[in-house]
Amino acid sequence: MRSPRYFSVPQELSPVEGTESTLRCGLCPRKCLIPPGRTGHCRVRANAGGRGDIPYSGFITALAEDPIEKKPLYHYRPGSFILSLGFAGCNMHCPFCQNWHISQRTDTPGRYVSPEELIAGVRSSRLAQIAYTYSEPLIHAEFLIRCMELAREAGVANVLVSNGCISAEAAADIIPLLDAANIDLKSFSEETYSRVLGGDLAAVLAFIRAAYEAGVHLEVTTLIVPGLNDSPEETEACAAFLAALDRKGTIPWHLSAYHPDYRWDAPPTDPVLLEGIARRARQVLPCVYAGNIAGLTNDTPCPHCGATLVARRAYRIDTRGLVLRQTDGGSRYHCAGCGKAVPLIRS
Ligand code: SF4
Ligand code: SF4
Repeated sequence: MRSPRYFSVPQELSPVEGTESTLRCGLCPRKCLIPPGRTGHCRVRANAGGRGDIPYSGFITALAEDPIEKKPLYHYRPGSFILSLGFAGCNMHCPFCQNWHISQRTDTPGRYVSPEELIAGVRSSRLAQIAYTYSEPLIHAEFLIRCMELAREAGVANVLVSNGCISAEAAADIIPLLDAANIDLKSFSEETYSRVLGGDLAAVLAFIRAAYEAGVHLEVTTLIVPGLNDSPEETEACAAFLAALDRKGTIPWHLSAYHPDYRWDAPPTDPVLLEGIARRARQVLPCVYAGNIAGLTNDTPCPHCGATLVARRAYRIDTRGLVLRQTDGGSRYHCAGCGKAVPLIRS
């Protein structure tokens, strides 16, 4: 593993030569001050005798072959499968986290793998893409960067599923290595981010903007939690942010129903409420999906003629509405009905 980056000795603490200094981790907006022998808020970045250490680097807590729609990515290689891996820890502490057993603790079973071993495994499988997902991959930035570099060299696509709550410096290191990402926009309230979730709205918005501007295929997810982020003002503010950013009309927004989990026991999101938020959002955004509720349709229509391009029944995906045609810029999806090019990504 490459040496830990993003640690520094805070000069304002007047470090004394020859003693073990407290370190600052600058990887995410928390900017934790970590005394010797302790870890930061995420529990995975540590101070080992005055040196930055990442004892859980490469510690994989979950590994699965998932439909790419499960990330969720609906407009990137629809109907394909992706190797998905999860890590330990998270820099946020959402009280309704559905992966809390790996995001909020580090004693979950797992095993260490090297980036070389991991990418060689993807290459030898029939999969040509890897997702860093489940808990929070970005706090393992050094490991991620090495994996992503190797994946690029091997022709394997890098997909990030993340809270996007990271410093501008780390975002600039990682975004150029990404092919696609699904980033959570959990709220449009600074207060909710900082007081309830332990995150930073400005950093998340900056990450989404930077990934979009860099040409990464981007999809955004908002878990609609009753009483927390479901007001018309807040959901419309999220939609307005995405609409102002997305000049090409290519960012799908996934509105996902919450179910009680971890420390949050409010009733699940009402499907009628979710559909209402989606309906209002569609007035300003071209691609809005309401999911995580049985029975809701999540098909992708052709933006030109309305024919179904991709039909989704849970994770049964029917892509017969798409045809792949060669163009000057490579192969590109077109609508099987009207024949026009559509904004779904093949490669
Ligand atoms: S990545 Fe972890 S240690 Fe670093 S600032 Fe964020 S929470 Fe703190
Ligand atoms: S950011 Fe994601 S992984 Fe982290 S606590 Fe929140 S929901 Fe869980």
